[in-house]
Amino acid sequence: MKSVITEALILRTNDYGESDRIVRFMSPGLGKVSGIAKGARKSIKRFGGCLEPFTLVSLTVQPREGLSLIKEGAAAKGYKGIKNDLERFAYGSYLLDLTNNIVADDLDDESEKVFFLLKNALALLEASDKPEEVVREYEVRLLGITGYMPSFLNCLSCGDPVDRPMDEAGQGGPVEAVFSPGDGGVFCRNCGSEKAGLESISIGTLKTLEAVSTKKVSFSRNAIEESGRIIPPFIMHHLGRRLKSLEFIDKMKGGV
Ligand SMILES: [Zn+2]
Repeated sequence: MKSVITEALILRTNDYGESDRIVRFMSPGLGKVSGIAKGARKSIKRFGGCLEPFTLVSLTVQPREGLSLIKEGAAAKGYKGIKNDLERFAYGSYLLDLTNNIVADDLDDESEKVFFLLKNALALLEASDKPEEVVREYEVRLLGITGYMPSFLNCLSCGDPVDRPMDEAGQGGPVEAVFSPGDGGVFCRNCGSEKAGLESISIGTLKTLEAVSTKKVSFSRNAIEESGRIIPPFIMHHLGRRLKSLEFIDKMKGGV
């Protein structure tokens, strides 16, 4: 196949052999790609040290089965505001890790959406003093694009809205529902009462999560705290394992 020039965000890299580097990147046109850059660690001329996570690059790539061939690369933007701040670096590493793990190699049509979602999230993270809000927004929208969006507002068992009013005047409705990472969504109070060990989540948080999939919303403190207890566990359940980058965030928060 002919070489193409593409914009790309570097997700992860591994050194290989004497001077090569294996690079995973997200491209709007090619999707999530693994490629090998031969001599990358020696050739300043062809790569200029651009093959690092948290870099927006322009790559010349020859797509191939298995490992594509990365022929040249140049940095378009480095995210110094992320790399130079431990908290932002921790959350940013999770964004890259999540993208690398949740996005299918053959996502095709949706690749462009994922690329621009990630590009936007990294720019927001670099400037934001609310990194968790940036991360929650990214998680929920990525789940939407990849087809794994949980049910936030309708009970998985009976199908009713979890915020339905209790009487005809619309008063006295429930203030909480329970979220099940394993089932992929919420149960109303009635249906959820039979299930043990699930997190109680306020209706306000569930509405915030539903809204953030389509528009910019501000998270309350409670919504940040509660959504952090349900969204990462939901994703980890879906992936079947915990991501190291998430453990790093937990350690950082715990001051370890
Ligand atoms: Zn129900």
